[in-house]
Amino acid sequence: MTASPRRSERPVGRPRSGDEIRAAFLDFYEQRGHRRMASASLVPDDPTVLLTIAGMLPFKPVFLGQAERPAARATTSQKCIRTNDIENVGRTARHHTYFEMLGNFSFGDYFKEQAIRWAWELTTEVFGLPPESLVVSVFREDDEAAAIWRDVVGVAPWRIVRLDEADNFWASGPTGPCGPCSEIYFDFHPERGREGIDLEDDERFIEFYNLVFMQFNRDAAGTLSPLEQRHIDTGMGLERMARILQGVENNYETDLIFPLIERAASLAGIDYAAAGERQKTSLKVIGDHSRAVTQLIGDGVTASNLGRGYILRRLLRRVVRHGRLLGIDEPFLVRLGEASIELMEKAYPRLRDRRDAILGELEREESRFLETLDRGEKLLAEVLAARPERISGAQAFELYDTYGFPLELTEEIAEEHGLTVDLAGFEAAMEEQRQRAKAAAVSVDLTLRDALDRVAADLEATRFRGYEALEHPSCVVALVADGAPAERAAAGQEVQIVLDSTPFYGEGGGQVGDRGIFSGGDPGAGAEGGVIVRIDGVSRNRSVFVHHGRIERGSLAVGDLVSARVDRSCRRRAQAHHTATHLLQAALKQVVDPSIAQAGSLVDFDRLRFDFHCPRPVSAAEIERVELLINGWIADAHALEVREMELERARAAGAVAMFGEKYDDVVRVVDVPGVSMELCGGTHVANTAEIGLFKIVSESGVAAGIRRIEAVAGPAVLSFLNERDAVVRELGERLKAQPAEIVPRVTALQEELRATAKELTSVRADLALAKAESLAGQAESVGGFRVLVERLDGVDGGGLQTAARQLADRLGEGAAVVLAGLPDPADPGKVVLVAAFGSAVLATGLKAGAFIGGIARIVGGGGGGRPQLAQAGGRDGARLPEALREAADLLRRELRGA
Ligand code: ATP
Ligand code: MG
Repeated sequence: MTASPRRSERPVGRPRSGDEIRAAFLDFYEQRGHRRMASASLVPDDPTVLLTIAGMLPFKPVFLGQAERPAARATTSQKCIRTNDIENVGRTARHHTYFEMLGNFSFGDYFKEQAIRWAWELTTEVFGLPPESLVVSVFREDDEAAAIWRDVVGVAPWRIVRLDEADNFWASGPTGPCGPCSEIYFDFHPERGREGIDLEDDERFIEFYNLVFMQFNRDAAGTLSPLEQRHIDTGMGLERMARILQGVENNYETDLIFPLIERAASLAGIDYAAAGERQKTSLKVIGDHSRAVTQLIGDGVTASNLGRGYILRRLLRRVVRHGRLLGIDEPFLVRLGEASIELMEKAYPRLRDRRDAILGELEREESRFLETLDRGEKLLAEVLAARPERISGAQAFELYDTYGFPLELTEEIAEEHGLTVDLAGFEAAMEEQRQRAKAAAVSVDLTLRDALDRVAADLEATRFRGYEALEHPSCVVALVADGAPAERAAAGQEVQIVLDSTPFYGEGGGQVGDRGIFSGGDPGAGAEGGVIVRIDGVSRNRSVFVHHGRIERGSLAVGDLVSARVDRSCRRRAQAHHTATHLLQAALKQVVDPSIAQAGSLVDFDRLRFDFHCPRPVSAAEIERVELLINGWIADAHALEVREMELERARAAGAVAMFGEKYDDVVRVVDVPGVSMELCGGTHVANTAEIGLFKIVSESGVAAGIRRIEAVAGPAVLSFLNERDAVVRELGERLKAQPAEIVPRVTALQEELRATAKELTSVRADLALAKAESLAGQAESVGGFRVLVERLDGVDGGGLQTAARQLADRLGEGAAVVLAGLPDPADPGKVVLVAAFGSAVLATGLKAGAFIGGIARIVGGGGGGRPQLAQAGGRDGARLPEALREAADLLRRELRGA
């Protein structure tokens, strides 16, 4: 494509930079009554999706009718990640893993015509795209949309293209809300006119705006019926609009990404403009993925082999790999992380707060990967040492996928050894992986779950009275008995009950739901009269509180009045743990790191659990200081202050918010003056003195970069001490020792045990040697060689090596000895294999290391060593006989001809 004339035609004052485009979009819709809302986290609340893949995802519960709409209209710029587009990155001009989706949403408010008119006005008047460069698509059967484009907006009929269901009908799942879409495309070559318009031709067209008209509900039989509440969901790719307005050849050359490409190019010492296609692709991949990994870590993801962590790891490794392809041989991720933060922190100030965490994770993960690359090189060397005919597709793919070896690199090394790579096999393995990725690229499932959801969906929010009262007269507004909605339920039934208002806390914000009793009925009926329901948990469905329990006496009907009474002692214990959790977070910030952020928490009656982002374990000394600090705050008897205030004011006052959480405009702030201030809806003690005592029970890692502390507070400390005490007492009795003597006694016992085990090993080895002596006579003559393959259990690797070496010495220079067995006959999960070759055998080209490494693969392992003597391990003892047979056959085959 030549330099675009659009550039000069663009009137002054039009948005051009990424920031200007984002602002112009949000301003436009804000001026038209939309509430401007912040981007939600890339880590969605929705457990059915790994990452936020579209601007609509955070509003899914609203579209489903499960949550109140935040406003009738909203507009956002949403961070998104689509891993299903990963292979397109750098290859097409328009696909990214990380991108921003600008959206305007109507929740049962305006609909099709208004959405289309605004989209057109924004596109042509605010962004200034000439109508003669625009083409729109509509769903094949959506005559209404086609008519609006033609008659209301005035688009020439030949510029309205009808597309099929696959392209222009949106559905979240097999059932639920769905509807037709309409997209706006930019035409880079309007001079080609109306002939042969193909919207798939991305040389000529790019889709930049998609409008979804949610107007139907699809039932299980596939029948569409009109929705009562119709919604609008739209998405415009920020990078794509930037590319159009900046007149550059692809999204990567926009100001949203190009600075990263330049940074990478300068690290590699090359010039982007002069670079070849492959180098350009690598630079684009680096530019794209750098933004993705920075935002992912910024939103609390750490690298791992699962789920989101794995996505992060893959992206990170691709950056390193492409860096190597460009010739960067120093670690460089931190440099790119810095550049990415610098590029995006204006729009996403949170990145600034998370800077240390982001750069730390990049550094750790890069060095981990460099080690893996080294291991991959060794694996490849082993593969080659086994002298295969060629490198299989599966091996090449493993090198690519696990060790980050580009196929070209494997091919190159193979070629040096006169080998080829099974390219078709590699492609097949790759395709399989792609299919897996596609299956994982999940759609948003909007299907309702069960009876309770349906009941709750029709109810108003429950009024929570439990901050001020523990007992409250309430009215039953809905009942589910034994899993089905009911008007009445009787003694013995499991029930779920919704009240109009309740003093019971509903599980949320980490705190468990309250327990207690509902009682009611005719007071005149005497003690035997009224109903009693025992409540053993309370959950929330949207903002409806659902009490779970069992009717113990009498019966209950919708409309009945009950007295709802919370179990005070349980509540008090939960409260102590909740306030203690806040103190714990504050203490960790003071003692360990001010940037510590919560990753999850559980506040229970008998304990608390607090997960937080931290790249290293908290030391024993730090734990002690945390405990001292908290118990000091408890002794200081701070009175808590709980206030409601506007979110912005709370943040400005320094209140700690849970990362990635969505908050209402007015929030509840729990303040332990001078110590901790958090946004929190939970219940708390009135004064820290009520907590009594605080004790940390354990500190551990739950995932890479996430630590967990478990602790007890209040009366729970006593139960904890009693349990510990019982253990100590029992140990004392068994060891016949006073508590203070237990540790030295156990240490002595352990030493004794170690000495005995050592003795046992050496006895076994002696035995093996003795056995081996007798084996020499069983060696088989093959050509001029002496082959001995035997199983010896109960001997460790060292013992087997000694035996093999001695046998080989006795059998002379033609010796080929293989010994293998289970060091612990009771544990088939550990196999040891040893090979010892004499000098004549070595002269044939056989090497003990490569040979035994190949055999070990049969028992699920690997290993190697020197050509004369080598040891390998495995995990599958059941296949040992097969491995021994294979070893003998192979030696016979190799040596017979030699
Ligand atoms: P395409 O067919 O080009 O992959 P799509 O149909 O998958 O696009 P939608 O799901 O409709 O796109 O998303 C709405 C808008 O988000 C698109 O019009 C586009 O501007 C933007 N978008 C979607 N996927 C990407 C991506 N991988 N990178 C950049 N922008 C994207
Ligand atoms: Mg797509």
